[in-house]
Formats: sequence, C-alpha cells, structure tokens
Amino acid sequence: MVNHMEVYEGKAKRIIPLDGEKAIMEFKDDATAFDGGKKAKFKGKGWLNAQISAHLFRVLEEKGIKTHFIGVAGDNRLIVERLEMYPLEVVVRNVVAGSLKKRLPLDEGTELKEPIVELYYKDDSLHDPMINHYHARVLGIGEAELREIERIALKVNDILREYFRERGIILVDFKLEFGKNSRGEIVLGDEISPDTCRFWDAKTKESLDKDVFRFDRGDLMKAYGELYRRFSP
Ligand code: ADP
Ligand code: UDP
Repeated sequence: MVNHMEVYEGKAKRIIPLDGEKAIMEFKDDATAFDGGKKAKFKGKGWLNAQISAHLFRVLEEKGIKTHFIGVAGDNRLIVERLEMYPLEVVVRNVVAGSLKKRLPLDEGTELKEPIVELYYKDDSLHDPMINHYHARVLGIGEAELREIERIALKVNDILREYFRERGIILVDFKLEFGKNSRGEIVLGDEISPDTCRFWDAKTKESLDKDVFRFDRGDLMKAYGELYRRFSP
C-alpha cells in the first residue's frame, strides 16, 4: 500500500508525493510478468507509457471521467492528484484472452456477448486473488463504492473501445485502479498503457502490448511505438 508522504517504489512506477494533494508518477523502463517471475528493462518504455497514459487520460477527461491526471512533467513523469487507493485491480474484458481461458470454456479471441468486470485484491503476498463483492465488503469497501467503481470501469470501456476501434485496434481487456481524493470522490488513478491493457491490431490480430514480452513475440518497443503512432498527431 502507498504511504501518503513517502516515495513509493513499485515494480513499474515510482510515486513521489508533492506538497498539497499532488504527486509525481514516474514511469520506469522495467517490465515484469508472471507475478514478478520474468523481468527485463526496455529503454524508452517509461517514456512511451507516460505519453500513452497521459493521452488516454485526456481522452477520458473530455468524455467526463474523473481521473487523477493533472499534467505531464518531463519525459517519463506525470503530475497526478494524490489518492487513497482502493486495494483493487478492476479488470474489464471484451474478448477472451489471458486468465479468462482458465475460467470459461471459450477459445482465445472469442468476442464476449457483453463485457465482463472482475475484481482482484491487490496483494503481492497473496498473488492478487480474484475476489467478489462479499470479499471486498469484508475488506471495508462499501457496496455503493463497488457499484460506482464498476459503473465507471464500464464507461471507460465504452469510451476506449470506440476510440481504439476507430484506430484499427481491438481493446481486448485492461486493468484499472481507483482511489479516493481529499473530497471523497472516486477517481480513476494509476496508468492506462500497453503494460496494463491488451491491444490487438484489428487486421492482423498482432499484439501491441505486454504479451509481446510475456510470450516473447518480438520487439516490445516496436509494438508499443506502433500503438502510440496510431493516435499521436
Ligand atoms: P505495483 O505497486 O503493483 O508495483 P506500480 O509500480 O505501478 O505498481 O506502482 C504504482 C503504485 O501507485 C500502485 O501501488 C498504485 O496503486 C499507486 N497509485 C496509482 N495512482 C496513484 C495516485 N494517484 N495516488 C497514490 N497512489 C497511486
Ligand atoms: N493486468 C494488469 N496487472 C495485473 C494483472 C492483469 O495490468 O497485475 C491486465 C493485463 O495486462 C490484461 C488484463 O489485466 O490486460 C487481464 O489480465 P489477465 O487476468 O488475463 O492476467 P494475465 O494473463 O495478463 O496475467
């Protein structure tokens, strides 16, 4: 859990608290997969993920989603609103991939009839187990908050799915994190990048995301660069 006034060193980012209610979110070049079992560094990944996240937060803000994004503060740094994070990873899925194949008898690439929202308890020592509302309420997260978090996650999905569709990319699935600001509002935090989403090229079905690293499918920076090129001016 992030202590509010200390620098937090995570696996892919660093959170540096600033005066007031802000923080710097610094994106590192490190990549990890399979519960930290696979690690590497990719020069320029931090920069690309910072730019991609900043861009997508702007897209969401324009459509009325409250995010922690305030501005870009140099190459691989964003300024964000400091939040009290919920210990949750909220995953939204449109197409079968990754761990969903272990849960439903559906083949990779099958389009889902409706999006699936999943909650995971963010705890490395427990390996981020999937939980439901009962577990979350025991953790102290109220039912109304859970419903609001899921409502926002589905709205983010509608906006981003359409945004990427227009750019020849399928938004397969992604992970969001939420927190509360000092006014008690639920705000979208963390990052939205190819580290935390699955993006497939609509024509070739090629991965433009961290699966390239997970499954050694080629040049990660080329894939992330191609994703960025699709929406940068
Ligand atoms: P991890 O903690 O899984 O190693 P990261 O390296 O991505 O992940 O670290 C980023 C940390 O910052 C995460 O724990 C995330 O919950 C937290 N975080 C994201 N946005 C904010 C925010 N606006 N305020 C405070 N903490 C945040
Ligand atoms: N995801 C993430 N962080 C995690 C776990 C998952 O960003 O700790 C993202 C992942 O990149 C994918 C989606 O959430 O876009 C669903 O991941 P899945 O459950 O399939 O797990 P994976 O097979 O990626 O570990």
